[in-house]
Amino acid sequence: MKPRGGYNIRVAGRPAGAVEALPEPDTLYLPLRSRRFNFSEICVKDGERCGPGHAIAKDPENYFVPLLAPRAGTVRLDAVEGHIVLEDVAKLPEETYHPDDDLPHVPKDLGSSGMKRYKLLALGAWQFLHDAHTNALPDPFDTPSAVIASTIRLEPFLARGDVQVRKRLVNFTRGLEHLQALLEYQPIHLILPEVDSDLASRVRDTLRGHAWVNITYVPLRYPFDNFALLARGLGLKYDANSPVWAINSEGILAMDRALTMSHPCTVRLISLGGPAVDEPKHLKAMPGYPIRAIIDPRTSSESIRVLNGGGLTGDTVLEDQLGLDAECTGLTVLPEHTEREFLGFVRPGSDRRSYSRCFLSTLRAPAAERLTTALKGERRPCVSCNFCEEVCPAGIMPHLIHKLLYQDELEQAELTRIDLCVECGLCSFVCPSKIDLRREFIDGKQLIQEELHSEEVEA
Ligand code: SF4
Ligand code: SF4
Repeated sequence: MKPRGGYNIRVAGRPAGAVEALPEPDTLYLPLRSRRFNFSEICVKDGERCGPGHAIAKDPENYFVPLLAPRAGTVRLDAVEGHIVLEDVAKLPEETYHPDDDLPHVPKDLGSSGMKRYKLLALGAWQFLHDAHTNALPDPFDTPSAVIASTIRLEPFLARGDVQVRKRLVNFTRGLEHLQALLEYQPIHLILPEVDSDLASRVRDTLRGHAWVNITYVPLRYPFDNFALLARGLGLKYDANSPVWAINSEGILAMDRALTMSHPCTVRLISLGGPAVDEPKHLKAMPGYPIRAIIDPRTSSESIRVLNGGGLTGDTVLEDQLGLDAECTGLTVLPEHTEREFLGFVRPGSDRRSYSRCFLSTLRAPAAERLTTALKGERRPCVSCNFCEEVCPAGIMPHLIHKLLYQDELEQAELTRIDLCVECGLCSFVCPSKIDLRREFIDGKQLIQEELHSEEVEA
């Protein structure tokens, strides 16, 4: 695949390959919301003792996908707003699958493939699937037109896909076979990095003879791991009746765990990265794990900002979120830099890298830059440098859309295909004027939907 745009971002603070297991917690704080889910249907009572893997809440808007208790614990419903708290947490032997768990969306007489999908939903593995074009959770009983299985993750500072596959290639292959068993004849597009690596050749050797897997190589430039871009690059068009499913390495391993061992998927591999972390690494963590207990012992910076997710698309973790949410892929910790740089843009920048190559640092050997939350200068009007258009993988003109949105020209913004934006944030990252283009486009798309298309939805 030869995608356009993209950028190889060099920043300090990426996690190394080692994986650390966190100590067992005393209390878990499970947020009732995550990026895609709102677990509004509570399935437990205050004071009840629940076992590991039990569904404590469900999201009725998303096929009743469950929020599972990662450990045994005593339920507190009103202790912290927006959370289910589990106290006196204990690590008990994992119970195997309960086929009678009530998932109202799912009819149970569906044959082998249907029962597998039901099991994946009940055991917390279905939530690793995405609609490649919309990012929504796919309907468990839809038939996809194809599946994208990606082994790469490129956003700084998220958990790399190869860390998970490296030691569990057998489980990964078996997970792919389980995935294929859910399909009829649809292809699985396996995404591998376009580099000569020991892992890539081991994966190739292992999958030799699996005719249903099409291997596609992708350059290691951000954001070529984005599911919507991969679908476009593979020529897989959007069709609401026959969606393209997408899943990453962790999801394939979760499928193996659920369907081979019948165990719930309650532990995730997350990254802890960013320049404010003393030793960036990968962590085995469970939803609800106290965020402060992860970060405080691992940073010596006094003033920090924590992002739920990667450095370009992560959302700031608010004070009232106490534990990791059910979809957390990593925590990014940046030093909070509140000083304003006087005339920062006229400094020679011997310690500053930039896409513009206009600083002195361009003359020395490439080195990873230490990011902070500072803007490095004032936010300024667009200077028409065109950098955002050069890197944009969607092939649109971010600077033009920015100007149209600024003038409230929503129809024109729509005609210039703001809808193709995959919200990767690369344009904001390279913009020398520090314009938050990504945020503008997320809000702009929503505004266009509300102002120009609300009647279509009502009709
Ligand atoms: S316009 Fe959208 S797709 Fe293009 S670089 Fe910006 S955020 Fe990414
Ligand atoms: S990168 Fe920023 S300053 Fe340059 S053209 Fe794009 S919006 Fe304008």
